Amino acid sequence: MTLSPAAPRRREAAVAAGALLAGAALLPAARGAAPVLLLLAHLVAVAVVAGALRRGGDDGVWRWWAATVAVLGLAPAAALVAASSGSSPASTPGSSSAVLPALAALAAAPLAYQGLVRWNRFRTYVSDPGDWLNGVSAVLAITAAGVLLQRRAGFLPAPWPAWREQLWLLDVGALVLLLGTAATVAAIGGLARDRRAWAVQCALAALLVVSLCLRGGASDGVRLQAAWTLAALVVAACSVRPVRSAAVPASSQAPAVGSFIVLALAVAVLAATDVPRDGWGPTAYALGATLGVSVRVVHLLRELAQLAVSRREALTDELTGLANRRALLQHLVVAARQRHGTGLLLIDIDRFKEVNDRQGHHAGDALLRRVVAAAARALPADAVFARLGGDEFAVLLPGCDDEGATAVGRALHEAVVRHVDIGLSIGVRSLPAGAVDPDRLLRQADTAMYAAKTAGGGVGVYDSDVDARSRERAALAADLKALVAAGEHRLRRELVVHYQPQVDVLTGRVVGVEALVRWEHPVRGLLAPVTFLDLAEEQGLMDELTVHLLHRATADAALWAHGGLPLRVSVNLSASTLAHPDLLRIVDDVLARSGLAPGRLVLEVTETTLMADPDLALAVTRGLTRRGVQLSIDDYGTGYSSLAYLTDLPATELKLDRAFTVRVLHEPRTAQIVEATVALAHRLGLRVVAEGVEDAATRDVLGRLDVDESQGYLHARPMPPGQVRRWLELAAGGVPGGVPGGVPGEPAAGGVAQE
Ligand code: C2E
Ligand code: CA
Ligand code: CA
Repeated sequence: MTLSPAAPRRREAAVAAGALLAGAALLPAARGAAPVLLLLAHLVAVAVVAGALRRGGDDGVWRWWAATVAVLGLAPAAALVAASSGSSPASTPGSSSAVLPALAALAAAPLAYQGLVRWNRFRTYVSDPGDWLNGVSAVLAITAAGVLLQRRAGFLPAPWPAWREQLWLLDVGALVLLLGTAATVAAIGGLARDRRAWAVQCALAALLVVSLCLRGGASDGVRLQAAWTLAALVVAACSVRPVRSAAVPASSQAPAVGSFIVLALAVAVLAATDVPRDGWGPTAYALGATLGVSVRVVHLLRELAQLAVSRREALTDELTGLANRRALLQHLVVAARQRHGTGLLLIDIDRFKEVNDRQGHHAGDALLRRVVAAAARALPADAVFARLGGDEFAVLLPGCDDEGATAVGRALHEAVVRHVDIGLSIGVRSLPAGAVDPDRLLRQADTAMYAAKTAGGGVGVYDSDVDARSRERAALAADLKALVAAGEHRLRRELVVHYQPQVDVLTGRVVGVEALVRWEHPVRGLLAPVTFLDLAEEQGLMDELTVHLLHRATADAALWAHGGLPLRVSVNLSASTLAHPDLLRIVDDVLARSGLAPGRLVLEVTETTLMADPDLALAVTRGLTRRGVQLSIDDYGTGYSSLAYLTDLPATELKLDRAFTVRVLHEPRTAQIVEATVALAHRLGLRVVAEGVEDAATRDVLGRLDVDESQGYLHARPMPPGQVRRWLELAAGGVPGGVPGGVPGEPAAGGVAQE
């Protein structure tokens, strides 16, 4: 008799019907039919649990409970056979109807126990054999106590023979164990919210009560059978829906506690038993329990030892035998609780990847081991040396401050460099007592390590300024990205173009302006180009910025030209922009949109940029000059190229770097170099502009050296486009101090503080 697995409702109804049958068996009127009713009820239970079995996937819970229920069913079956063969009804203690349920219960108890253990989600990884020993020992210990109690207090009805007594006690012992196990499973296994755990406990408790109340009466057999059958139906009801039994790794604590309780009980019985008076019974059971539990404890100890080994393995690095990252973190947490400060070294092997890639992983591993061996020699005894993974190591130095930790770092570095001949980058960070925070320590030591690596290796102590700056840089980079992503409108608002006049040295007339960008940062205020142009380059935003600035500068210049101020406008191009494949098209677009005459646009490219890729520079600059756009060689004199290299380039302008300008007045050698350079440039058809001219004397010297144009604070600081016209009008009026047209010492018209 099986039921469809897809019909939990029907199965619940079947269980209810079974319960009615079992209940009916208890009615005095049904006495004669009791065995039949109970057997039917029991068959319902078996069928329902068997249905769960077919569903499977419950980790064997129902297999064991199906077996339990089936074995329990032997009792009513046998009773029915006995009744039909006309043997005596359940009147004597030894009669089959009373003994059979007791025997069946004893046989079923281990199966039920196994089912419960299976239900336990909270598995110890070798729970089963151990739990078995624990279970059997527990039953023996409880029986021992029961036998002793019976000897002393004689609480059982007198007519029971000794074997019946023992059977009863074993049954009660098994029930106590099952109840205890069910409670433990529910509590530890997180089953408290599964009502079935409670139902099973209630059924077991009821069974225990019924068993304890047996007094050898005539209806004992039927009652006991009915109780077990009802319990079987409870199990059947539980089986209607699957149980959660995902194994969760567990500690060995729960079985250890159980073993301890059993041991204590057995020992107590042994101590209390007086063999001449109580007989061998209690002692025999208690000894059995002690033996079982002892085996279990030995087992447990072995498990714990294994656990310790695996824990140790989980904390060590396999290759080097050092502590691993997890272990280091544990040590750091402990260090944070100590009353002394802690130093931390973070070590990275320089160019380890090359070794690994070129010589293979074996060579890499061997190198790591040699580094570890060499480094370990340089460490104090209480240091914790850990491998964090790859070629990264850490050394925890209890009680060390920056100075102490740096000394250890240096010694370690020297030892490794000497013995292994490979470079290390070591970051040092220490935190004082009470302020040791593992995360912070690791992060800051890491920052120090990166700084050391950037500086070419060696030992570097954490520097909060450097850290703050690098964080600030990161924040600024993010802002810049957001700015460019926000598009034209915000770029126009936040990017500011300032113009610095270029003055003809001979006539004093303003002939051009250089466009210099600034960033009006919403929080940080006006930022100089040095603070953000590198970031723009790093983030790959330079092209977008330059294109935007080209449009702005040409538009402004076109506007001035329209208003009768025909000025050249110079725009700086970065290396990446020069290499932009679409540069020429962009320039065409810029000129077309602004309407500026191509000859009025000067693109400034630094000497170093031009020399980085001469072929490209040549191709691009030829393309530019074909359009009539001018090319200026910026910062001339800072690179190592000689002018001869630049003769191929169709440049129109040479900008003498400020380094020459500031010295030309006082250093005759510089003056000679400038003179020669200017002569050569003129021969090559280049105009020479001197940058950074701050005083009239310098301007005058430059004039004598034949420099064509002068740009610098002497004339004006870079200023916003709106001020250019006014400044030009003032300059035309001839302001005293400078050349005609110059405005000496013009207050920083939007200039930047660093200038
Ligand atoms: P640069 O091209 O050499 O520009 C000249 C720099 O010297 C400007 O600094 C200018 O303000 C400053 N300066 C001008 N006259 C004097 C003076 O008499 N004394 C001193 N001490 N300094 C003077 P700024 O504006 O801070 O620009 C710095 C650099 O940023 C520029 O050097 C240029 O390389 C770059 N830059 C500025 N704007 C742009 C741009 O739109 N695109 C690109 N790619 N680079 C730009
Ligand atoms: Ca420039
Ligand atoms: Ca320059």
